[in-house]
Amino acid sequence: MTKPCIICVAITGSLPRKANNPAVPITVSEQVDSTHEAFEAGASIVHAHVRNDDETPSSDPDKFAALKEGIEKHCPGMIIQFSTGGRSGAGQTRGGMLPLAPDMASLSVGSNNFPTRVYENPPELVDWLAAEMLQYDVKPEIEAFDLSHILKAKDMADKGHLAGTPYVQFVMGVKNAMPVDRDVFDYYIHTVHRLFGEDAPWCAAGIGANQLRLNEWAIAAGGHARTGLEDNVRLDRDTLASSNAELVRRAVDICDRNNRPVASWQETRRILGLRLPENTEKGQAA
Ligand SMILES: [Zn+2]
Repeated sequence: MTKPCIICVAITGSLPRKANNPAVPITVSEQVDSTHEAFEAGASIVHAHVRNDDETPSSDPDKFAALKEGIEKHCPGMIIQFSTGGRSGAGQTRGGMLPLAPDMASLSVGSNNFPTRVYENPPELVDWLAAEMLQYDVKPEIEAFDLSHILKAKDMADKGHLAGTPYVQFVMGVKNAMPVDRDVFDYYIHTVHRLFGEDAPWCAAGIGANQLRLNEWAIAAGGHARTGLEDNVRLDRDTLASSNAELVRRAVDICDRNNRPVASWQETRRILGLRLPENTEKGQAA
């Protein structure tokens, strides 16, 4: 198989702290450094949350703006994806950074349980976030915590609430949500192909030790892969990951073993139908 594989690095998230792994980047400058190292290692998408100085989650658009500026400067061409997930704010504050027009943003289209609470995504809020993404030309990544979320994306696309072919990420292994289950994984792929076409891209993320398993499954099955300290702070049971880049390199190794070239940022923009960045020459995009 020679289809390029997109590697997304989820650098920070809203949960892991320095106490869990000192390599988790918290300040904007730490985030830019960690992203740069991951970009050099092969990641072409950065999925980002921002934090307050005390490490608690933030939804401050000014922090997102500073992060975007730093990544654009140090990682030209890299695709910037902001989280609109529910741990970083409530209601419309979750989308307060969308007017910054990042390339992409995560979009959860339904509710489910999380380890200690309900992950609430009421229809009104989902519609509002999707409308903001349309307005600012932000490509959503649909976070599928459940099969129904993939069908909801189809419904939204049919109604013109999402631009282009939906890009779905299967999230597996969050406690109390969808576990890591191979039959479900295969059926997710089948469903994406049935609804969006045989060439429709998809990706997968596993939480904790399941990050490695989902990387292996997705890469072998022709999908794209997400890694990073947001989802998993360890290399194995006894070893903390030294950086986001180290986790990216592990995904690159899996690509090598599966004869999949790692997608450049240009290839990633083409596969996902993303615009070219403002600060690069059009001719550079392959
Ligand atoms: Zn996230």
